[in-house]
Amino acid sequence: MNGRRTFLKNALITTAAVSVAGCTASAVEPKDEKTSKKNPNSHPGIPLAIATWPNLRATDLAMQAIVFGGSALDAVEAGAKVPEADAGDSSVGYGGLPDKTGVVTLDACIMDDKGNAGSVTFLQHILHPISVARRVMEKTPHVMLSGEGALQFALEEGFKTQDLMTDSSRVAWNKYREEMQGKAIGEANHDTIGILAIDRQNRISGACSTSGAAWKMHGRVGDSPIIGAGLYVDNEVGAATSTGLGELVMKTVGSFLIVELMRNGATPQEACETAVRRIRDKYFADGGKDVPQVGFIAVNKAGEHGAYSLVNGFSYSLYQGETNEVYEAESLINAG
Ligand code: ASP
Repeated sequence: MNGRRTFLKNALITTAAVSVAGCTASAVEPKDEKTSKKNPNSHPGIPLAIATWPNLRATDLAMQAIVFGGSALDAVEAGAKVPEADAGDSSVGYGGLPDKTGVVTLDACIMDDKGNAGSVTFLQHILHPISVARRVMEKTPHVMLSGEGALQFALEEGFKTQDLMTDSSRVAWNKYREEMQGKAIGEANHDTIGILAIDRQNRISGACSTSGAAWKMHGRVGDSPIIGAGLYVDNEVGAATSTGLGELVMKTVGSFLIVELMRNGATPQEACETAVRRIRDKYFADGGKDVPQVGFIAVNKAGEHGAYSLVNGFSYSLYQGETNEVYEAESLINAG
């Protein structure tokens, strides 16, 4: 996922407002308002795996899981584990940038085709939060475990602790600290892997995993582990997942909204566009500056997909048929 974050940078971070300071655009130009209705890359067809951002290895492993007889649930877990273990990915799992106190905290959730859900928030020291979320779903009567409790559960389940900081995340953290001493200016990097899959039995599952916004307040949890916000799956309809400034996605319950729009007849593309427009209309109606990024991807039961973002620069990976490719998503606002 390297290289995809340039548009997420240059955020003004104040100590009081870290959580809403991410991924700003300096100037915005509204684009043509009409809904595109059709995503040129979208056509029906299963199985498929689709993920936020350039994440071709994740979609590849997800598809391999399906081809070798695994379920959509196995597929999304396998896919999410790729960036979680990637030291070069500074916004998910190992190598993820820490919060403002220098601590890496992870959020993840997973949903299967039966409507089961599992989630972990504010989890530390565990390489694969998505697998812990799956265990929460499969082995506890709960949906969400947080912080110390989530860690304790992970240890009981046999997960091992490790340092999630890498040399480069330590360097970035030190640089951030130095800059903050002088002028309270930092840099916000935050992306997420959201991954959806449909297997040969037409079962839909989804997973979402992140280290959240870099330099966030200690204790901050974003949209990614929140069922309905960062991820939602309804096997009768489809699924959606998000990336970008989680506060906006939580306040609009974005992924659930998209699935409900599809339930009422919208295509995945129309549903993603409506959800993004809702965010723009509610929070940035006057256009304004410093519009943060939010991006959604969605699939319906037939295997059609949609993708749309608030600000240009969002892309997604799609493995369908014989092709595994990255596509640029359409966006509502052109920030240049
Ligand atoms: N949605 C994530 C969060 O707000 C981060 C991101 O995708 O940029 O924690």
